Amino acid sequence: MLEIRDLHAAVNGKAILKGLDLTVNPGEVHAIMGPNGSGKSTLANVLAGRDNYEITGGQATLDGHDLAELEPEERAQAGLFLAFQYPVEIPGVSNMEFLKAALEAVRKAQGKEEWDSVTLLRKAREACKQVNLDAQFLKRGVNEGFSGGEKKRNEIMQMLLMEPRLALLDETDSGLDIDALQTVARGVNSLRSPERGIVLVTHYQRLLDYIVPDHVHVLSDGRIIKSGGKELAQELEQKGYGWLTGEEESA
Ligand code: ADP
Ligand code: MG
Ligand code: MG
Repeated sequence: MLEIRDLHAAVNGKAILKGLDLTVNPGEVHAIMGPNGSGKSTLANVLAGRDNYEITGGQATLDGHDLAELEPEERAQAGLFLAFQYPVEIPGVSNMEFLKAALEAVRKAQGKEEWDSVTLLRKAREACKQVNLDAQFLKRGVNEGFSGGEKKRNEIMQMLLMEPRLALLDETDSGLDIDALQTVARGVNSLRSPERGIVLVTHYQRLLDYIVPDHVHVLSDGRIIKSGGKELAQELEQKGYGWLTGEEESA
């Protein structure tokens, strides 16, 4: 489903990804770990097509679509959803209006039936309930004045509604309290399905106690230097990254 081959990418002209290979099959959850600055967020941003992130070599395809040839909106329509990297506030546009526009475009592009406003509201309320977000949040401006935890719940809520083919989650360094962590984990776990792939970028081994990945990869200096099963995350928690990167303890 997601095939990344020898991917090279630059941010504002600086080479960051230096030959990255990754294959995600439907139904799999992959965790990407690695030291700070290794290129984890860059990978997520390159795949989503964020401004200033440029593919300089190799290829990334989603269901055979070459991502480099698609605009960010087209990538979303192809089923890609990037969470956490755009916690932008859009004052004056309600969460519900935003969702309606996004869902219309994506569902249409994917040939799914359109949801009428009653269905949409019902689905949106259900999704809010799943992430413990009061339905009042649907009426508020997108992310306007939301706390960090509320933004994350909101993104998971959006993701549940978008039903992405490939969900990318980039956990930032910012702390998630234990409630938000469990909510995010519940939301992500409920997204697990045989048709869907999930790529979780995380600094927190702890998150992987709740979302058990099928594969764990360590990114270092723009390349995947080790891959393994869920036990690799536990090993990293104990040993840090130094034994892999050849440096002193870096975790
Ligand atoms: P990680 O998420 O693994 O901590 P990042 O992908 O955020 O790593 O960063 C990888 C490298 O790219 C770092 O050296 C960082 O300084 C650099 N980088 C990230 N964003 C930019 C940018 N907008 N301009 C220049 N360099 C950047
Ligand atoms: Mg970082
Ligand atoms: Mg990062």
